[in-house]
Amino acid sequence: LYLRPKMSYTSAYMEKNNPPIIGIVVPCYNEEAVIKETAGALSAVLNGLIGEGKISASSFLGFVDDGSRDQTWRLLEEAKKQNELVKAIKLAGNRGHQNALLAGLYTFNDQADALISIDADLQDDSAAIPKMIEEYQTGHEIVYGVRDKRNRDTFFKKYSALLFYQIMLWLGANIVYNHADYRLASRRVILALKEYGEENLFLRGIFPLLGFSTAEVKYDRLERRAGNSKYPFSKMMAFAWEGVTSLSVKPLRLVTVVGFLVFGVSMALSLYVIFSRFYLRVVPGWSSIVLPLYLLGGIELLAIGVIGEYLGKIYQEVKRRPRYIIDKII
Ligand code: UDP
Ligand code: MG
Repeated sequence: LYLRPKMSYTSAYMEKNNPPIIGIVVPCYNEEAVIKETAGALSAVLNGLIGEGKISASSFLGFVDDGSRDQTWRLLEEAKKQNELVKAIKLAGNRGHQNALLAGLYTFNDQADALISIDADLQDDSAAIPKMIEEYQTGHEIVYGVRDKRNRDTFFKKYSALLFYQIMLWLGANIVYNHADYRLASRRVILALKEYGEENLFLRGIFPLLGFSTAEVKYDRLERRAGNSKYPFSKMMAFAWEGVTSLSVKPLRLVTVVGFLVFGVSMALSLYVIFSRFYLRVVPGWSSIVLPLYLLGGIELLAIGVIGEYLGKIYQEVKRRPRYIIDKII
C-alpha cells in the first residue's frame, strides 16, 4: 500500500503542495502534574506554525493516555473542550512507553501527513519542531531529534546512557546516537513500520532499519517540567535488555564463543592430567576435579539462561497478542 502512489495515503498536501498536516503524538503515563502546561506549550508551537502558513490548520496534538491512574485522562478531556487542537486516546491499561507511542502513531496516522512523537514532560525541547518540519518539507521522511548536550541529566543517567549506546553499537544494533523517541515520521514511514509485526518492540532500533531519506535535528535536553520520571532504574534496565535481545543475536553467539574457549581449556587440562598420570606419577588433586565442576556449571547455567531468554521471546511472538487496546477516543 505504501509503495504505490495515489492510494489512500496521498493527502491534499502531497497532491497539491498544500501545507502539511502535522500531528504531535504524546504518550502520557500519570502526567497530571505537567499535562496542562504541555498542551499549552505544544499548542503555541502549532498555532505559531499555522499562523505563518507553514502547516495546515488541521494539524493537531494527539495524546495517548497509557492507562494512567491519576487525573491525566480527566485533564485531557478538559483540554479537549478548551483547545481545538487536542485529540486523545485512552488505552485500556498501562502498556509502557513504546506501546503507547505505537498506539498513537497507528491511530493518528491517517489524519496527518507526518507525525512527531515527543515525551509529555517536554524534556525534549519543542523548539526543534519547526526545524523538523523544515527538514520534512525538503524531502526527509524520518527526522531524528538528537540531544546536543546532556549537562542537565544526572551523572548516573548520562553515563549509563553512554554505556548503553556503546553496548548496542558493539552488538550490531544500528541506533542513532543520543536519539530517543523524539522524531518526525511521514505517513508512508508509519505504514512501513506497521509491516514489522514483532511483539518485542524497540522503536529507536526499528526506525533506522526502515530506510527512507533521513535527517537529524539537534536540540538541548531540558529538565522535566513537573512530576517524576516514569522510568525508574528497573524499567530502564528492562528497556535496555529489550533493546539488546530484540535487535541482536550476539549474546547467543557470545555463549558459543565462551563455550569454545572453555572446551579448549578443558582439553588442555585433560591432556595435562593424562600426562601427569603416566609421567609425573601424581594423584590428581581435589582442586582439579572441583574447579572444572564449578567452571562448567557456571557456564552452562549462563548459556541456558540466555537461550531461555530467546525462547521466552519466541513464546511471546507466537501468541500474537494485541499490543494495545483502545478504551476511548475523543
Ligand atoms: N510513559 C508512558 N508509559 C509508561 C512510562 C512512561 O507512556 O509506562 C511516557 C511518559 O508519560 C513520558 C514518556 O513516556 O511522556 C517518557 O517517560 P519519562 O519522562 O518518565 O522518562 P525519562 O525521561 O525519565 O527517561
Ligand atoms: Mg522524561
